Amino acid sequence: MNSPQEKKLTVCCAWVIASLDKYASDELLPSDRVAVEQHLCHCPSCADEAEAYGEIVRSAESLPPILPPPDVERRLRNFLAEALRATDRSSPLSSADGTTFPLK
Ligand SMILES: [Zn+2]
Repeated sequence: MNSPQEKKLTVCCAWVIASLDKYASDELLPSDRVAVEQHLCHCPSCADEAEAYGEIVRSAESLPPILPPPDVERRLRNFLAEALRATDRSSPLSSADGTTFPLK
């Protein structure tokens, strides 16, 4: 049952599969990266997984950036204006003689 090729598998398939996300995004330690690459040379099923993983990472990287809905800025500005007005009412700036200076 044990072919010479199987003896070259120094790491197990489960470890390689678990490492594929870091392998695809180039975050593996150099020694781990070599171990994954050596395994992929001899293990077609993991090589297929790695190929599919790379495909997913590449297509995710080509997606356009996600922008917030267009009315978020308007609602945020309204909220901040409202908060500023509330602050104005509760703590007006005042000088020593009691004269108040509205913020606007
Ligand atoms: Zn494998």
